[in-house]
Order: sequence, then C-alpha cells, then structure tokens
Amino acid sequence: MKKWIYQFGINHNNEHLDNITGLLGGKGAGLAQMSSLSLPIPPGFTIITDICNYYYNNENKLPPNFKNDLSKALQDLETETGKKFGCHKNPLLLSVRSGSKISMPGMMDTVLNLGMNEEVLNALVLTSGNKKFVFDNYRRFLAMYGSIVLNVPYYLFEDAFALHKARANIYKDDDTTVDILENVIKDFKKIIEKHSGKECEPDPLEQLSESIKAVLNSWMSHRAITYRKLNNIPESSGTAINIQSMVFGNMGETSATGVVFTRCPSQGDKKIFGEFLINAQGEDVVSGSRTPSPISSDGNQQGKSMEILMPELFQELEQVCRKLEYHYKDTQDIEFTIEKGVLYILQTRTAKRTAAASVKIAVNMVEEGVISKEKAIMRIEPESLCQLLHTGIDYSKNLEHVAVGLPASPGAASGIVVFSPFDAEEMSHYHKVILVRNDTSPEDIQGMHVAAGIITARGGMTSHAAVVARGMGRPCVCGVSNIVVDEINKILKIGDLIVKHGDTITIDGGAGKIFLGKVPLIQPEVTKEFEVILKWAYEISALSVRANAETVLDATMGLKFGAQGIGLSRSEHMFFDKDKIPLVREMIIAKNAEQRKKSIDQLLTLQIQDFKALFRIMKNKPINVRLLDPPLHEFLPTEQEDIKKVADSLNLSVSSIKQRLDDLHEVNPMLGHRGCRLGISYPEIYQMQVEAIFTAINELDKEENIKTLLELMIPLISNVNELKKLKFYIQQKITILEENFSCKFNYKIGTMIEIPRAALTANEIGGEVDFFSFGTNDLTQTTYGISRDDLSSFLPNYLEQKIFEHDPFICLDEEGVGELIKIAIERGRKANSRLTLGACGEHAGNPKSIEFFHKAGIDYISCSPYRIPIALIAAAQAKIRH
Ligand code: ADP
Ligand code: MG
Ligand code: MG
Repeated sequence: MKKWIYQFGINHNNEHLDNITGLLGGKGAGLAQMSSLSLPIPPGFTIITDICNYYYNNENKLPPNFKNDLSKALQDLETETGKKFGCHKNPLLLSVRSGSKISMPGMMDTVLNLGMNEEVLNALVLTSGNKKFVFDNYRRFLAMYGSIVLNVPYYLFEDAFALHKARANIYKDDDTTVDILENVIKDFKKIIEKHSGKECEPDPLEQLSESIKAVLNSWMSHRAITYRKLNNIPESSGTAINIQSMVFGNMGETSATGVVFTRCPSQGDKKIFGEFLINAQGEDVVSGSRTPSPISSDGNQQGKSMEILMPELFQELEQVCRKLEYHYKDTQDIEFTIEKGVLYILQTRTAKRTAAASVKIAVNMVEEGVISKEKAIMRIEPESLCQLLHTGIDYSKNLEHVAVGLPASPGAASGIVVFSPFDAEEMSHYHKVILVRNDTSPEDIQGMHVAAGIITARGGMTSHAAVVARGMGRPCVCGVSNIVVDEINKILKIGDLIVKHGDTITIDGGAGKIFLGKVPLIQPEVTKEFEVILKWAYEISALSVRANAETVLDATMGLKFGAQGIGLSRSEHMFFDKDKIPLVREMIIAKNAEQRKKSIDQLLTLQIQDFKALFRIMKNKPINVRLLDPPLHEFLPTEQEDIKKVADSLNLSVSSIKQRLDDLHEVNPMLGHRGCRLGISYPEIYQMQVEAIFTAINELDKEENIKTLLELMIPLISNVNELKKLKFYIQQKITILEENFSCKFNYKIGTMIEIPRAALTANEIGGEVDFFSFGTNDLTQTTYGISRDDLSSFLPNYLEQKIFEHDPFICLDEEGVGELIKIAIERGRKANSRLTLGACGEHAGNPKSIEFFHKAGIDYISCSPYRIPIALIAAAQAKIRH
C-alpha cells in the first residue's frame, strides 16, 4: 500500500529518498534534509504531494488508508514530544503548512496553533504559567482558523483587534494585556459564529482534518491558479502538507522569530542578513504589523540587532547558516523561531537575489572551493545581467510615475523633452535630452544617437525605435497608450498634464515608466566579480562573441565587455552623420555619372577617416564590414528646407529634385531596391566603399603598422549570379588598389544569408565565399512574410491565442527559420568545407536562440555591445548543457 506520510525531526533520516522535492514538496524536503543534518527542527511529518492529485481526482476525498496513517503519525509525534493533541493536561499544538513542489511564495495557506479550545486553553495556562502568551495564541488561532478554514474574511478579525487596541490606547501588539485579549477572543468567536454559522472551536481532531482540506483547497484558489499560469507551473505538480509541532516565539522577551539569508541577497556580501522580532510569531515578520530589527549589526541600528541583544543565539544561527549553505552549496533563505532562549529552524530554501548578488555569490563560491566555474555560470540568469549594465532608478525613494508604456530598452535617464531629431542635436550640446516621437524612422537615427533617452507613443517591443535604442544602449519606452505627442506644437499630453519642449522628465526603459522632473538614479558598476565571471564564460564557450558596431564609441564599449571582434558594421550608419548626409543625398539624386563622381569623391575622403578610426581600435581582431544595405529613400530629404539645399548644391530646380524623389519612391522598400541590388545598379557606390575601406587598411598598415583582419560582407544575396557579379566588381577594384599602393591585401569576402532562397541555394553560394553570416532579422521577416514594423498590430493577439509561442523576432523560430539555417550550413559546407559561420541581429543577443546557434555549429555570434555579457554567459551555458 502507498506510503502517504513521512516523518521528520532529529530521529528521522529520509535524505536518501529519490526525488525528495517531488515527493515531499520544497518545504517538506527541506525539513527532511535539515533533520539529517541534525539541526534543531520541531518534529512532525509530511503528507506527500501525491495527496493533492488524489484529492482532486477523487471528488475532494482523501485515500481510504489515509486516516489510519494520519493517526499513527500523530501518535508517534505525541510520543516523541511527550505531549498529547487535544489533551487537557499537557496539550500539543500543531502547524499545518502547505509546501508545493515548485515554490509559490505566499500563494497557499498555513494554519498555526492548531489544537486550541477553551479546555486546552486552561491546560496551557497551567503548563506554561504564562496567561498572556496563551491568550495571544488563542487570538491568533481563531483568526487563522476562522479565515482559512471557515472562510470568514480576515479583515473582520484585524478590525476587531485594532478597535480593542485603539480603545486601550495601545499601538504595539505585544503591549496588549490579558484583559484586552480576553475581550478580543470573545469578539472573534462572535464573528466566526455570525459569518460561518459554525461553532468556532470544534474538536481538535476535526480541526486537523479540516485544516488539511483547507490547505488542499488553497491549491485551487484563484491566486494560486493565477500564479501557476504566470510562472508556467503545471497544475499536476501539487502541494504536500507539513504537520509540525508548534514552537513559540511569543513567550516573552527571550523568545523571537525571524528570517535570515546566509548572504546578503541584494549585494551578495558574505555576511548573514535578515530581520527578527522579539515576542512574536512568524506571521508578524512578513505581515508588516510590526517593524522588525536587523539580525546583524551594521552601524545605525546597532542597539537593536540580534547580534547585540542575543549574542549567543546569533552565533548559533550563524553556524546553522554556514552548515545549510555548505550542504546546499548555495545561499539559503531561512525561517527560525526562538522559544525561551532555544533556537528552532522552520524552513530553508534557495534565496532569491538581485543580479549583482547572484554574480558576486557565484564567483565567491568558486573562490571558496564550494562550487565549480561551470556551476557558477549556470546559476546566472543571463537576461538579469541587464540590471548590471544600465543606469537604474533609485526606487527606495517614494516616486510617482505619470505614464507607463512598454519597457523597450533598459536603462534610466533624465533630460529635457525635445520633439524632433533636429532639436535633439541642437539641444544636446548643452543638455541631456529625451527625444519624444509618435514613432521613429531611420532618419531619426542621429537624433536618437545624441538623446539620453527615447519615448515613442506608438510601436511595440520590436518597433524601429525599440530595436535601434537597444542596439545603441539608449533607454527607451514605447507604446505609451495614454499620451498624445503633438510634434508640430511641441507638446506632450499625458492625460490632463502638459509637458512642453524644454521641460525635464525621467524615463525608466527597463520598467517602461515615465516620471516628471529629475529623479534619483543609480549608476551601474562593472565589479571585479562581474569581470571574473565574464572571463570564465569566455574560456568555456565554444561560440565566439562579437559586437555589432560602427562607431568608435560602440566598438570601445564592446571591447570593454569582452567582444572578440566586430561581427557586423553597418557601413550606411556612417552616412547619417551631419557632414555626410548632404553628400549622400547628392550622390543618390545626381543626374549623371559626372555629378555623382563629385559627391562620391568627397564622401570617399570622409569615409576613409571613419574606417581608420574604427579599425585602429579593433586591431588584431576580426572586423566584418557590410556594404550599403537599406533602400536609398531612407537617406533622402523630406523637409522642404533640405530639398532646397540639395537642389542648390546640384544646381537643379526644386521641381526636378521632387521628380527624382518620386522616381525613387517604392511601395514596399524593404522588399525593393536595396542591399546587393543597389550594388548592381550603382557599382560606383560599392566601389567607393571598397576604396575607402582598403585605403584605410593600407594607411593604418603603413603609418601605424596595424594589420586589419577585414571581412567584407555583401547583403541580401538571393541568387549566386548577384554574388559573382559583385565579387568581380569588388575584386577588380581591389586589384587596382593593390597596384596603386603596391601591396597585397589579406581579406575575406562573404555574404549575409537573410533570404530563404539564399539558404536553399547555399551549395552554389558557399563555393563563392569565405563566410556566411545569418542575418536572422531579415531571414525571419522573409521566412514568415511578416514585416517587423507591422507585427505589433497582431502579435499580442497571436500570443494570447497561443498561435505563436514567442515573438519570432526576439526568440529565433527553430522549426522554420532555424531549419533554413541548418540547410544553409549543410549545403554551404558541402561546397566549401572551410566556410566560417556567423549570426548577427537581435537573436544573437537572445539566450535561447544562442543555444540554437551553438547546437547548429555556428562559429561566432554578433550582438549589440550592451548585450555582450548576456551573450557570453548564454554561450557558455549552451556549451555546458550540451
Ligand atoms: P509560508 O510558506 O507562507 O512561509 P509557512 O508554512 O512557512 O508558510 O508558515 C507561515 C509562518 O508560520 C512562518 O513564519 C513559519 O515560520 C511559521 N511557522 C510554521 N510552522 C511553525 C511551527 N511549527 N512553529 C512556529 N512557527 C511556525
Ligand atoms: Mg515559510
Ligand atoms: Mg538585413
């Protein structure tokens, strides 16, 4: 027959059980393990988690042999404690505690002080000699039993107690007197009888069986169901029930209760940290009815700490912490109670912690010899590192936000509001600015670059603003529903509130919040431990991690975080600079080759300097430069003023410029004249870029002896003939340059794989190139036939209806897009066994997608500099896992 009950306590050792947490639940497993470590545990027993499934599969009934097992376990407990449940001489009181397999803090019920009634009360007064303690216990029991088992609203008890305290002018629970408590108890009984229609103090055995059912019922409470849904916890995992003899922290000044962490959960310092209350029961610490005191002394509150007030118990608690941490090899969160100077441990579990603490603790534990480097890396939640890389808001101050949108790009910033990229640039010379737009387009790039933060009224997590802001590491809030951005009149309306150009606001891009004025910020710091764990991740991972960067600033940031090269340098970003955009416009609009050559020559000089600056800081590390990719219209003027400027410098009429702009208009530019298609139509543009790149390489070599490891990348290939043609143009140009400079260049040439046809014909394309770089943003767009910019109108509905499991632009679609990647790798390698494989784009910074890239045999991933630490940890985890 099935064994439903396992005992715990000093005389019981169940640690050898298989899958102990699955069987006994988290709390039960902890109690069993602490028993075998000989820690002071009040004895008791655990009813296994399977009881929960049985109960729900059998119309809320308990198994037939259960009753016998329960009374046998109770008898054993009575023998062990020398007390008797419900006895009028030496009564035993119990707690009935929930404890699910997967922790659901605060979601389920626990009943304390079970076994009380009038007669037991009198017996307890005699055995304890402490009338106030007994009455206090009875009050607590009635409120808990009444609310949890008999479903009387808890606030009725709270209100009644508060009223009695107010009448007697008492503020603290432990200042109550026996007389007051007696009246409170009378009221509590009346409340119970009135609201439940039941007698309030049934026979203790009935109390026990009713409490067991109440705990089981709390598994299906609304809040527990919601919590499981939000955290993906299966309904079938179930809760165990722990029945334990009570220990009392409310027996006077030598009794107490508290919670302690074996290390500081916010900073990770190796020092026990926690709070406690003298003369109280466990619930009082969490409920906030009294303000607890610190466990360890630290400066200001010294006088009240446990370390000062109960030095011996403090030392004993420290030893328990050390023992538990050593056993679990991880930081623990421990509940304890002191009854008349004797310490009892009631619970232990893995402590939740901030990202900063989790890094520090993991590294320290390796240094202490407790865990391996691999284990330390597995303990870091890659995404949580975001917290460490960005400025945050100091929420310990009381702050009121005025609007909330999507947390599109983490970090916090204060600045003055501006409504156009032009104003952003103007004002940014003297101020920090927050750029506020309805949405952004590539034309806004420069404005976004100089802004400290960005807000867009529209758009989702993958809108242009969000993607660009994340790439640049700018805080960004998108899709703020209750705001109106009036770009013409330069005002922002938030409900009734009006924010004008020049007013100061603060945003938290990690929380999606907007605040008026300046609020206190916290600066990130790269700690010694953070550097250490990144170094370990670098040593372990098979994938190398590079940065997407085109500016010196981004490249420097990437190197600082451990980038092993640049995996994507979008050359067109250099075109948006103030000094280059007019030339780029002239180059595009020029009517004939002669005109075009004039602007191209000027651009060439400027681009050489750009590339030199970038190559100089990346020396000895590979640099992948992608030739011009976006459709030309992205560079073209829209403002009347700008159109006139171009007309003047080209000596053309405004109307003929407008005509040319109309000619360049495309219905669907992302699927239009862009990427290598531009290279074919305007060979001189790519040739200019090639000349700039190789001149920069040559000059750096001759002037500073810097050897650049260039990888030249052609975007948007769908047909091998495009590649052959462009390669021919490019190599022809390089040969001429080699003759001019009398040198021989060492470089690689490759292509992006970002169109399904390129993946499918990788056998042809692979033979022509040295490397593939999977451009997973475009490959996702073209595989799904979904434009990333238009996704937000239906994605929420798709996710809600579970048609899509994830946003495919954030987490790589392994079955579809991933399959194309695998096909391309297999076919490409067949044509060229020495093909190098890279992946760039948003997915290369996403931990789950990184695991896929690792398994697929990719050589390097390249992501935004700010996500490099996340990618490094995720890459190391992928290697350890597989
Ligand atoms: P939760 O999962 O919400 O923490 P617990 O079962 O741990 O619920 O119990 C709630 C509170 O009651 C805790 O503070 C715990 O320490 C305390 N408690 C539970 N059992 C006992 C006991 N046998 N003696 C004294 N206090 C107890
Ligand atoms: Mg607890
Ligand atoms: Mg692309």
